[in-house]
Amino acid sequence: MVYTISREIGIDAGHRVPTHGSKCKNLHGHRYTIQAICESEGLHEEGEQKDMTLDFGFLKQEMMDVIDYYCDHGLILYMHDVLLQTFILEEIDLGMAIHTAMDKGWHAVPFDRNLVGKLYIIPVIPTAEALAKHWFERLEKRVAKRSNNLAWLAKIVVYETPNCWAMYEKTISFQGLEMGDTPHEENIGR
Ligand SMILES: [Zn+2]
Repeated sequence: MVYTISREIGIDAGHRVPTHGSKCKNLHGHRYTIQAICESEGLHEEGEQKDMTLDFGFLKQEMMDVIDYYCDHGLILYMHDVLLQTFILEEIDLGMAIHTAMDKGWHAVPFDRNLVGKLYIIPVIPTAEALAKHWFERLEKRVAKRSNNLAWLAKIVVYETPNCWAMYEKTISFQGLEMGDTPHEENIGR
């Protein structure tokens, strides 16, 4: 028996798809809706999460810390986007930022080192699919920890618009031996 819970947050953020052949190459913004879907095989038997998979409040807090804090009203850019050079004040910081983004999977450029305020760099082009995977990887361990290893993060769904979403999930075989990534998407525009 598997229980499923979901928590949703919304952020406003700018991005662009530099490799896109059409309008998505332009710097533009979205009202992103992000859903974190968690599962558990049983419920907590005691404590403040008794009869829960994971407290919705805990899940929201982790999503706010990882997603909202760094990206709401910010700009999310690919680390090799040529625009980065324009926004970062000192060239030496760009090299460091790229290095950190590659190493850690993300890098938030300090406010005083760029011209746009919140600037979040990731080693992939910030499509909805890539953001779903990125946020999944940043939230996965936090979900396990906040639920005392009872719940696991099953999926992240990222809506770029009310009509376009992408989902990332990690599939685990019944034996627990083979793990694979299964991206899903439904996209019309960016
Ligand atoms: Zn877009």
